[in-house]
Amino acid sequence: MQGKLIIFSAPSGAGKTTIVKHLLKKFPQLSFSISATTREARGAEKNNEDYYFISKEDFLHKVAHQEFVEFEEVYNGTFYGTLRSEIERMWNEGRHVIFDIDVEGGLRLKRKYENDALAIFVQPPSLDVLKERLAGRGTDSEEKLQERYIKAEKELKYADKFDIILKNYDLEIACKEAEKLVGDFLASR
Ligand code: 5GP
Repeated sequence: MQGKLIIFSAPSGAGKTTIVKHLLKKFPQLSFSISATTREARGAEKNNEDYYFISKEDFLHKVAHQEFVEFEEVYNGTFYGTLRSEIERMWNEGRHVIFDIDVEGGLRLKRKYENDALAIFVQPPSLDVLKERLAGRGTDSEEKLQERYIKAEKELKYADKFDIILKNYDLEIACKEAEKLVGDFLASR
């Protein structure tokens, strides 16, 4: 069976991971698409839960074997990708799939799956707030932070290409709005 896809995209630091985790608790029929990445695990992140942390060699091997539905070099030298096997496994279990993915990857999935996909852009109050949140995490070096800021600035311009822009000015309100959007989408068709 083909299930649905719920795509959350935004620059890192916009709060999409927190919103996605909230939705996973609220909707038992949803499963998180665990992406593969070549970056190192951060803080409390767990392999096979937050990401499949794999080597660049392994990643490129999977690219060559067309194992990704989309992948990207999100940051210089650091790859992220959605595995076809991940989506199919969940659909075969009768579940819908939720994604926490960068803006270009999100739009690529939307183009591929069209009406089976709901693409939501999480909008932070401003670039300055985003910068504060990223710096406050304290998990990235100054150089990595700069790279994230530059990417964030670019990504904010893609908002209106998404089905919906979800403002995250207050996390509790944003989580409630996300619940409504996802509930309606899952109930449709
Ligand atoms: P982070 O390093 O902060 O976990 O993720 C960096 C960015 O890569 C975030 O915007 C995150 O959503 C995105 N990302 C995570 N997994 C994937 C994926 O499978 N494909 C793409 N295109 N981006 C991803």
